[in-house]
Amino acid sequence: MNSPSTFASQVEVPKGVSLPIYMDNHATSPLDPRVLEAMMPYFTTKFGNAASRNHSFGWEAEAAVETAREQIAALIGATAKEIIFTSGATESNNLAIKGIAEMYRERGNHIITQVTEHKAVLDTCKRLEKHGYRVTYLPVKADGLIDLEDLRRSMDDKTILVTIMAANNEIGVLQPIAEIGKLCHERGVLFHTDAVQAVGKVPVDVIADNIDVLSISAHKIYGPKGVGALYVRRRNPRVQIAAQIDGGGHERGMRSGTLNVPGIVGLGKACEIAREEMAAEAKFLSGLRDRLKEKLEANLDYIHVNGSMDHRLPGNLNMSFVYVEGESLLMGINDIAVSSGSACTSATLEPSYVLKALGLGDDVAHSSIRFGLGRFNTQAEVDYVADKVIEVVRHLRQLSPLYEMVQDGIDLTKIQWAAH
Ligand SMILES: *Cc1c(COP(=O)(O)O)cnc(C)c1O
Repeated sequence: MNSPSTFASQVEVPKGVSLPIYMDNHATSPLDPRVLEAMMPYFTTKFGNAASRNHSFGWEAEAAVETAREQIAALIGATAKEIIFTSGATESNNLAIKGIAEMYRERGNHIITQVTEHKAVLDTCKRLEKHGYRVTYLPVKADGLIDLEDLRRSMDDKTILVTIMAANNEIGVLQPIAEIGKLCHERGVLFHTDAVQAVGKVPVDVIADNIDVLSISAHKIYGPKGVGALYVRRRNPRVQIAAQIDGGGHERGMRSGTLNVPGIVGLGKACEIAREEMAAEAKFLSGLRDRLKEKLEANLDYIHVNGSMDHRLPGNLNMSFVYVEGESLLMGINDIAVSSGSACTSATLEPSYVLKALGLGDDVAHSSIRFGLGRFNTQAEVDYVADKVIEVVRHLRQLSPLYEMVQDGIDLTKIQWAAH
């Protein structure tokens, strides 16, 4: 680990901005105060078990759960009965993929996914490979999108499931889910999508997009942590899912366990707000995002956006700052909460597998930053973040011999480095 670069920042903190600034809304989002308010009674006076059928405490909790089911369904064009509650999207993804694999084993053992999925999908698929399933991991193009022709070619008569995310959590790239769903339905293959980052941010409609199963998480849409949902289509086709947690037979037998009533109320409220405010919020967020991008590009050279700008979440900007050492960059902007292109595993700093899948080298992946803008960010915060990043990148490049060589017109790719 390098020692932090010690230099005094000249960037002024604008009025109304307090540090540190949270700009990591793809990792988790703050709870919306309106969501908290909706949840509060279910921690205190309305504490009933939604499965208690014999008294008003149970009825009250059950009614709240059913309201939430409707709020979630309304956001994605589903019906309330098609919503199953879980502990979050990791569980939803596991339940969808393992539950379908188990239920449709007679029909086939082939699953198709793609390389930039969340680990909750990739590791679930890897486990199924150990149990006799065949998994195809489609590559992505340099812009982060899959090639639909690749998908079409990969399907065979043993394919039972395609699982492709709607929006990527690192680069914000939106996959063409409506086209993917159409292809799947033409072939009689089920389509699951991890829509955690997309739902509530861009329009998602399970009918128009031909989605059979869809994962949601509350804490990515200003709801509480530890609660999520799985949409499971009931007609055309009726999807069956083998339960992965056995018990009291809650949630139409697909997911046992006493329901997290306050969490579910929070998820429902978060979906209701998202439905009402999504269009205006998307405009607001893409405005902030573009402002950030334009400021950085106007003031720094050798920077580039990772992933398609045309097929992208409104609040996402993922940029590489070439000729800057990633860790020093993060250290320099430690009053801003963002994610880097490195995944911190136990001992080593692994470059992000998502960025590597786009063709980025390890060093460029390490010098990348994901800015995840959200509902509570402000223009003044964006301006501070832009100024701070510009200052730190310039400072680090003054210390960079590579940058100096590039400035002098030396083509780094043509250099014969000493024996390695
Ligand atoms: C956060 C996230 C998950 C995991 O959701 P949890 O509710 O935290 O388990 C899955 N997929 C994507 C794309 C995510 O961003």
